Amino acid sequence: MDSLLRHMVDMTGHRDHTMLDFSVISAVQELSGAAWTRVLNIATVGGQKFVRSRACIHAGGVACPEEAQDSGPGEPIAGYPELERCLRQHDMRAESAGGPGGDGLRRLWLPIWFGDKADTCLEIAHGHPFTPEALYMVNGIVSVYRNFQNLLDYSERDSLTGLLNRKTFDDQLARMLHASDLDTERGAGIAEPAGHAERRHQNGEERQWLAVVDVDHFKSVNDRFGHLYGDEVLILIANLLQTSFRAQDRVFRFGGEEFVVLLRSTTLDNARRIIERFRGDVEAHAFPQVGRVTVSVGFTSVSAADSPVVTLGHADQALYYAKANGRNRVCHYEELVAGGLLQTVAVNDTAEFF
Ligand code: GH3
Ligand code: MG
Ligand code: MG
Repeated sequence: MDSLLRHMVDMTGHRDHTMLDFSVISAVQELSGAAWTRVLNIATVGGQKFVRSRACIHAGGVACPEEAQDSGPGEPIAGYPELERCLRQHDMRAESAGGPGGDGLRRLWLPIWFGDKADTCLEIAHGHPFTPEALYMVNGIVSVYRNFQNLLDYSERDSLTGLLNRKTFDDQLARMLHASDLDTERGAGIAEPAGHAERRHQNGEERQWLAVVDVDHFKSVNDRFGHLYGDEVLILIANLLQTSFRAQDRVFRFGGEEFVVLLRSTTLDNARRIIERFRGDVEAHAFPQVGRVTVSVGFTSVSAADSPVVTLGHADQALYYAKANGRNRVCHYEELVAGGLLQTVAVNDTAEFF
């Protein structure tokens, strides 16, 4: 009982999804005596479900790191027939007996249901059938996990649009820079033919980008149609943002009619194309009653050497330029500076840009 309480305290002490995942699987691992326990991510891409390990812990407490976010959606769920059936039937759990062909271990899957969706699932591998007591305890932990995940989502997301809120921005930016460092380290082991690196540089190396999106003349939308229609426009723009950008990118509502996007590992040309396509999609969208709405965007490259405030300031300067030069357009900070259209300003870290 002592150790159950200790695990509960540990699990509910986190304000971070990754830490929560590890805390939950180490609790399950220890209390059930499993061979190993994983948190699986279940993604639906083009109507197909895929399974990817998000965190894993083995008996003896060896934890494996989360797989890279850009390693794709994972394995097709067809490799997990029991789990596939369980998800289709909205069951609380699935089991496999562990045949002689495999490692001989049984598997227990416990999807974390939110309404009719489960994008997370615990997987527990064990040599013997669970005792009723162990099952009872594991089910209790799953319930606490679900409630706590819900609470974390609630504190990280904007209630109108469901996008990430500003509070989570610094953390997400740091994670993205860290993940891109790991990508670079992995890539560094691969020998490149002479001259290739320079060519790649010229064609545009992959890096991180930050875009600030602001709705044009939004005050007049509210003035002409009322706040409710204004809110509806914000929700529809949030949806367009989520479909325009990729799964590894991050979209935030920074407040009001202002949004921020972090684009992970892509070339300048690609970043520009993705952002332009989004701008065009908004322009082409028929907003109910309101009709045509446009957005202006400023974007800049993200460097670990600059603080988040400095990077946001650069994107904001480019946005300001877009607003002053016709709106409904995308402006790139570094290009404006190189063209002499914007001055670099020395900023101190405490400056407020918004
Ligand atoms: P610009 O093209 O220069 O960006 O003009 P603008 O009218 O969009 O900019 P301004 O900053 O003057 O106005 C922003 C407006 O956004 C003011 C405010 O009424 C509205 N707004 C802020 N938050 C919300 C919200 O949550 N819902 C609605 N409906 N309106 C909001
Ligand atoms: Mg505006
Ligand atoms: Mg604004």
